[in-house]
Amino acid sequence: MNSEFDVIKKYFTFPDARQDVLIAAGDDCASVSVPADKQLLITTDTLIAGVHFPEKTSPEDIAYKAVMVNLSDLAAMGATPAWLTLAISLPQVDEVWLQKFSATLGDLLKRFNVSLIGGDTTKGKLSITVQAMGLCDKDKIMRRDQAKAGDKIYVTGHLGAAAIGLHVVLNNLDDEQLQPCITKLNRPEARVKFAEALVSYSNCAIDISDGLVADLGHILKASACGANVFLSKIPVSSASSYYFEKYNEAETDWTMLLTRGDDYELCFTVSEKNEAAVIELARQHALPLSCIGEITEGSELNFLNTDGQRQSFTDTGFKHF
Ligand code: ADP
Ligand code: MG
Repeated sequence: MNSEFDVIKKYFTFPDARQDVLIAAGDDCASVSVPADKQLLITTDTLIAGVHFPEKTSPEDIAYKAVMVNLSDLAAMGATPAWLTLAISLPQVDEVWLQKFSATLGDLLKRFNVSLIGGDTTKGKLSITVQAMGLCDKDKIMRRDQAKAGDKIYVTGHLGAAAIGLHVVLNNLDDEQLQPCITKLNRPEARVKFAEALVSYSNCAIDISDGLVADLGHILKASACGANVFLSKIPVSSASSYYFEKYNEAETDWTMLLTRGDDYELCFTVSEKNEAAVIELARQHALPLSCIGEITEGSELNFLNTDGQRQSFTDTGFKHF
């Protein structure tokens, strides 16, 4: 087990499930066929040890997150995942680590009917770059620039738990009741199936990776509109509420919940006529769904507390530079 070819063969080669893979990993390029009535969507995300996950994160959790953050981008536009590439840089060939990473990767490929069609394997600080490719019906996608004044703003799941999870991990808080926050950090669930159906009712979505303030801000900028969001409507998980009760003198830290990262929930807009259908869709997918506000004319993003007072955020989302 010395060359990168041995590593690729043993840990990054999986039985190929998809018929649309014409040339799989092993040649200079992979090749796939895209049906004439479909549109191809492509996204990539890098995870670097110490930047995107704490150094002590398990190989299973790293693999899970590397795949899910990419599938979450596909979900944000309503695409069905089809193929992945994996560029990985490893400090050394640690077979125990690779075995665990590979097992989780293989499970996810199977679960989403996705093929790993190529990649690159190099030596260096641990870094994982996944590229995900997906398909959707022609012109049936959700984009950031389609919000309209009067649309309602919805989010899936709960917001901010992963930020609490990161705080718990970095500060070694030993509290079993905060485990759901750590799970939210390490095991995000891309809302793939829900999003595939959501394209029939929404044409504007984003996945929340840098906190709601920043990511809803991207929708507003692209769509040239504003929004009113009600803090009382923001979905907060019970583990997150427990955290504030116990560790923050019962004070909800909205900056923590709305400006950090790693939620991987969807934020999307819906016109009034489609609201009932969207609520029913979330029920069918057993997915918590919250209407948190509405799109307005103008360009301001206002967060309003229960007294109708504005809450402002200066710290809006992680920036690398
Ligand atoms: P080349 O030198 O032509 O770029 P490589 O030596 O980097 O090819 O890789 C050999 C083959 O193995 C290629 O088909 C590539 O896509 C595949 N491959 C390399 N690394 C990975 C990986 N981490 N996961 C999946 N396939 C990989
Ligand atoms: Mg190469």
